[in-house]
Amino acid sequence: MYIRDTIAAVSTPPGNGGIGIIRVSGDKAAAVGHTVFKPVYNGGLVSHRFSFGTIIDPETGEKVDEAMAVYMRAPRSYTREDVLELHCHGGWLVVESVLALVLRCDVRLAEPGEFTRRAFLNGRIDLIQAEAVMDIIASKSGAALQLAQRQREGVLSIRIGEVRVFLLQALALVEAYIDFPDDDIGATDVTAILDSVGSARNMIAELLSTFEEARIMRDGISVLIVGKPNAGKSSLLNRLLNENRAIVTHIPGTTRDIIEETVMFDGLAIRLLDTAGIRHTDDLVEQEGISRALEKIPLADLVLAVFDASCEFSQEDQLILDALSGCTAIAVLNKTDLAQRLVLPDEDRFVALIKIAALTGSGIEQLKKKVCTQFLHSSTPDSREFVALSRARHRDALSSAEQQLIQFSDGLRDRNLELLALDLRGALQAVGAVTGQTATDEVLDLIFSSFCIGK
Ligand code: GDP
Repeated sequence: MYIRDTIAAVSTPPGNGGIGIIRVSGDKAAAVGHTVFKPVYNGGLVSHRFSFGTIIDPETGEKVDEAMAVYMRAPRSYTREDVLELHCHGGWLVVESVLALVLRCDVRLAEPGEFTRRAFLNGRIDLIQAEAVMDIIASKSGAALQLAQRQREGVLSIRIGEVRVFLLQALALVEAYIDFPDDDIGATDVTAILDSVGSARNMIAELLSTFEEARIMRDGISVLIVGKPNAGKSSLLNRLLNENRAIVTHIPGTTRDIIEETVMFDGLAIRLLDTAGIRHTDDLVEQEGISRALEKIPLADLVLAVFDASCEFSQEDQLILDALSGCTAIAVLNKTDLAQRLVLPDEDRFVALIKIAALTGSGIEQLKKKVCTQFLHSSTPDSREFVALSRARHRDALSSAEQQLIQFSDGLRDRNLELLALDLRGALQAVGAVTGQTATDEVLDLIFSSFCIGK
């Protein structure tokens, strides 16, 4: 429920910084400004203008800090309520003292995400855009940031709105017949209903197909490096990381545990996993590392299977090939600076075959490029055309809508009209949940509680 009281919170991160911002939203925002802020120049707080002055304790008259204040009168503000921001020095104690003064003015401390929740409840943004605000803050790669910015601009919201229009058109036609239960739906209307529902279904299917790529843009991909001992896994990892994070050694089996590090390839976040060499062994510690490597294969988005191209194909290499079944893998033929002896069987099971020399760096750029294009193939994240589902919540809601529309289309000719209308309303409800039009308080609580305080 939305109670129109006035809330406040520190909107800058905890700790010491150059500037600390206290944000206030609600009917009392202007009064708070007049109580705790004394502008140096006459004229007081003018909406959407910064003014310079001091924060004072109204009870003692004591000066707390020098500050800038900006007042934004509703509805031209982040929450569409009256908003006041006090920009003071960024020391932890200063910021907390100013917040304490504000909270004495009949103002309550904001819950996590409450400013954004109010922006949503007041209709300034929808739920997709509210989530995008959080995604912008949490973005760890260029691709993730671009996707979040596109969602905040509302491209997905517009597409969802178009789907709703098709569904409403179909529902209006079906409902028109409910009042005349003895009439069969006319042939022209059946065609019109099928057209509208068909268009909605196509758009939903298209959106659902974007989820995987958007997930990759948001979260990046996990890449597992496997290969027999001495194939050059650690050398490759170091090349990809451009540093000496992993221990490189010629003694088989010394990289005993899994090493993980995140790097950016072309703005895409790559979590690189390096495993102990996979081979038959009696050494217990190494065995542990090997079983972990094998366990991780199905979890990785991509496997880089490293082979020593200067050796003949061995039983150990075969063991790796066998373990790769069902996963996306690139064959990395290493040590191509030496005489080539490897003949790799079953080349076709790999999405690509890349020749490198980890020692010299040859082929590494080509490998990086292939990793990116393998996952960001249909579009680039900054493409103006790219509309995508960025969260599992969106996907689940649209999958449910899709199911109800399939049920609707299958039953159109022989099901009861009331039931058909129910299917359409169910689909509309599911589609509306994505933008928040039909989201319950529990869903909103769940989404906004993962925000930080002050946002
Ligand atoms: P890992 O056991 O698979 O992690 O293999 P390492 O990365 O520890 O490499 C094993 C040995 O092969 C080391 O002596 C590396 O210097 C060497 N090595 C790795 N890559 C190359 C390469 O491209 N060419 C040559 N000639 N030697 C390499």
